[in-house]
Amino acid sequence: MRSITLFHSFILFLTLGHAAPSSPLDIDERALTLDIDFSALLPINKNFTQLTISDAFYGTREVSYFLTSTGKAVIDGDVLYGNEDELLSHRPGNNPLIPRAFSAVNKKWPGAKIKYKYASNDAENKLKSIINDAIKRWKDGAAWLTFERITPNNNDAKNGVLTISATDCDGCNAHIGYQNSHRRMNLQRGCSTGGGHCGVNEAVHEFGHVLGLYHEHQRPDRETTVKYQCASLEPACTNMPSGKTCCSTNLPSPCCKSRSNFAIINNGDASGAYDVGSVMQYRSNAFAKSGKKTLVPAKSGVVVPASNPGVPSKGDFERLCKIYNEQCDKAKTCRQNGCPVSCPNIRPCASQRMCTGAPEPPFCCFAAVENALCQQRKRKCQSLGC
Ligand SMILES: [Zn+2]
Repeated sequence: MRSITLFHSFILFLTLGHAAPSSPLDIDERALTLDIDFSALLPINKNFTQLTISDAFYGTREVSYFLTSTGKAVIDGDVLYGNEDELLSHRPGNNPLIPRAFSAVNKKWPGAKIKYKYASNDAENKLKSIINDAIKRWKDGAAWLTFERITPNNNDAKNGVLTISATDCDGCNAHIGYQNSHRRMNLQRGCSTGGGHCGVNEAVHEFGHVLGLYHEHQRPDRETTVKYQCASLEPACTNMPSGKTCCSTNLPSPCCKSRSNFAIINNGDASGAYDVGSVMQYRSNAFAKSGKKTLVPAKSGVVVPASNPGVPSKGDFERLCKIYNEQCDKAKTCRQNGCPVSCPNIRPCASQRMCTGAPEPPFCCFAAVENALCQQRKRKCQSLGC
């Protein structure tokens, strides 16, 4: 029979009771003596949850954990990791900041520096003031972004550089995020067959893509906030069968091609609350029949913008901060202070026994102290806006 001492339990608690244990396996095996049946500490009748975590100590690995009555997550049978929220925050791809707009993964510009050039002198003449305004709107909330203008103007492919063109009838569009390849943005000034022109609001949206953001309305959880109305889509054909809409099946192939503009994307980072105020949210009548709406509120209090928003939302900047957390000042401050902190609702101990019994004591003995410390850390994070 393998047993441990109460002293060992106490040390184990002190060592492992934090989100990022510096060395939870440093326990001196020689401290083990024969006081308690070790099998009593193994939670054989608990509900286990399996997940992958990634942290500085374990690297990336699968864990199976259960929760104690005080909300602590225990992995590896008897290793206390921290609160459940702390464990969950170590899922790969998680970030301590509250994310909002929907972002690409691993497509950030090195050093948060966006290198760009104009495709021609004509493009510069047409777009310079729009581009400068759009850049200013992003930098107003993310001064740590750098936009570096490359000269001369030309349409040559250049890896890792965004080439901005003003080709009429090519629409307003841009690549999502960075790759070490030719990146492009087009902002048309007009088109004889319709389509209007791309102004500064549209340039702000396209820069959102360039920086790594997807459309908010293509998030997997869209329908909980904004409902897509397929029947309102404007057919892109002249032979739409009578009485049919883009909700129907077996339609002539070009009729509802704009359906894909509302396709759900599953492989981005869509964590955090849906942000209907994001510059990456399409307006309510996007691709809609005249007088109709393709995107409507799914619940009260939601207002789908009627025109393209031109100023990045607080959520957009939070998301950018998440992507570029090495450059974003706020992310740095939050990280340095271990934010955010989530404190469980720790129940008081049934009795104030001094660290006797298992498995709850000794955890229970220190619950009040730990809770007070946690609340203190949480208040600091809130004061920092993390
Ligand atoms: Zn877009």
